[in-house]
Parts: sequence; C-alpha cells; structure tokens
Amino acid sequence: MRINIAKEIIRNEFLQAKDTDNIDEVEFDFLGGEPFIKFNLMREVMEWCWAKPRPKPYLFSVTTNGTLLNTEMKKWLQKNASKFKVVLSCDGIFQAQNVNRSNSADRIDYQFFLTTFPEQAVKMTVSPSSVHLFSKGVIELIEKGFNVSPSWAYGVNWGKHHIYEYKKQLMLIAKYFLQHPDVRKISVFEKRLSAIYDIGDFMRMCGTGGMMTTYDVDGRAYPCHLFLPFVSQREYQANLIPPHGSLIDTRCVDCQLARICQPCYGFNNMENGNPTIRSSLFCLMSQCEILVAAWFVCKRAECEIASGKVLCPSEKLELKAALDILDFNAKSL
Ligand code: SF4
Repeated sequence: MRINIAKEIIRNEFLQAKDTDNIDEVEFDFLGGEPFIKFNLMREVMEWCWAKPRPKPYLFSVTTNGTLLNTEMKKWLQKNASKFKVVLSCDGIFQAQNVNRSNSADRIDYQFFLTTFPEQAVKMTVSPSSVHLFSKGVIELIEKGFNVSPSWAYGVNWGKHHIYEYKKQLMLIAKYFLQHPDVRKISVFEKRLSAIYDIGDFMRMCGTGGMMTTYDVDGRAYPCHLFLPFVSQREYQANLIPPHGSLIDTRCVDCQLARICQPCYGFNNMENGNPTIRSSLFCLMSQCEILVAAWFVCKRAECEIASGKVLCPSEKLELKAALDILDFNAKSL
C-alpha cells in the first residue's frame, strides 16, 4: 500500500469516529503475509500519526511470525510498546511451528515478545498436520509465561479423524486447566455457557461489516480481511454484508448452541459464497469446543464442591447450562 493511501484511510477513520459516541477507541491493524517486510512503511505511518493530536484514543497493532525482527526493529518496538501492540503467531511446540511455518521455530526471539508485550496473547494456529501436538503446544506456551489464543486453520483439509483428534486434544487441555486452576485459560473455556438461556434477537458475533473495515492495498474497503478478493478468491458484492442484522443461518435458529456458537461470516462466505450460510466444518468444530467447555465446567464445579466451596448464583447458572448442554448433546461427546 502506498503511504498516501494509508494516511488517507487513517484521516477518514478519525473523521468518522470523531462524532460517533459509541466509538471509544480506534484500532489500526496492519495486515499482510508478514507485515514486517514493510517495517519502514509501518513505522513512517505510525510516526506521522503520533506527530499530532487525534480526535479519539487509538492504537496500532500487527500480527507477525516474528522471524524478521532485527536489533534496530526490536529497539524501536520496545520504545513504542505502549502505542503499538505486536502479536506473535506461534503454533506451539517447535515441532508444530516447524510443520505449520516452514521450519521457522528457531528464528523467533520468544523472550523478546514475552518481555516487551507480556499481555499479548500468542496467536496459535492448529492445522490437521499439527493437531496432535495442540495440547502440548498450549501447555508449553502457558508454562513459558504466554497467554495463548488458539484457532484452527481454515482452507485446509480436515478429515473426520482430525476433528476427533481436535476434540481429544481439547479434553487434554481441559484436564490441564482442572489441575492448574490459576493459569489463564484459552477462550474455549471462557465461554458464558448460560447464554443458551438468553432470549431476544440474535446478535451479530463480530464487527465484520459494522465496526470493522479492512482496506486492500488500493484503499478499497471490505468487511474484514477474509472478504479481500485475493483471500476469498471471490469478487466482493458491495451489499453482501448489511450494516445491521444478526446474519444467523436459518438452520441454526433452533440449535441449542446458537447463542454461544460464534460463526465466522468470512469463512461462511469463502465456503458458500454467502456470509450467513454456515460452514459445515465450523459447525462440527464449534460443537467440539462447546461440549468440551461444558464438560470442563461440570468437572470444575465437581472439584470445587468436593473441596467445600459454595457456588455463587452465576456459577450455579453456568453449571446448569453445562449440564443441559451435555444432556442434550450426550451422544456427541
Ligand atoms: S453448532 Fe452448528 S447448528 Fe448449532 S449454531 Fe453452531 S453452526 Fe449452527
């Protein structure tokens, strides 16, 4: 992207945010195969932006594979760590990182990320080739001191046995969290299961097409990066994502899990050419995650009650929801 286009985008976003009461902060996220290939461009954009007051609080961020950082870049990042959030993509133990990311494990300075951005969760991608190493990876990263944010890879071939392995690995992680109740959990185990009892309109599950916009190198806007033509391999229709509405698949409306299952509209679109039509793979993976999360909530409550703890009302409601989910979906676990 040319620097003038980047500056124009930033100016326009501030203009829109300026008079919008429900926008407290603007986040500008640099995207790319590996954004640090264009470190000088990112640095120039940020230094230009920081040079004068802006109408709303804001933050820059980027996700990197961590392989290109040199001494000069590290110094600059350390100096600006409060204004520029850098998220490391790391797929777990060395073996998984090397399988998923071309033998790059030993080119990453893990300690630099840990000390410079201690609050940033590491983005961990689980693929069919590395799924058997998933639990080891999560546990190793946690024990090194990282927060971990795993997600599974889209656009690769997940067979039934891989999905089964994914669930098995989630169970191993659940057991680890039961034995280590004080460590920070991955998001699968932080779901509010009692949302299954919520009533009213379904909510849109992410900012796609609403609070979030992705700009291509020519400055054209898309609902998120998954709608960029070079990512989705589809031409984008201007009104594909309406600004309002839940975007729920009509087949999900009666599903008990519909309010805790977070479909990805971009994946839906890539698979089906329609952001509302759920991806069949997503449905299976989501069920695995929710069932294991429900099992975890039940087991944790069992341990806590056995040790004499009295559950508070919200914990009791979570337990009831977990039991209902397991009861309803017993055959699936
Ligand atoms: S689990 Fe499947 S059917 Fe249920 S809400 Fe999620 S995607 Fe829809």
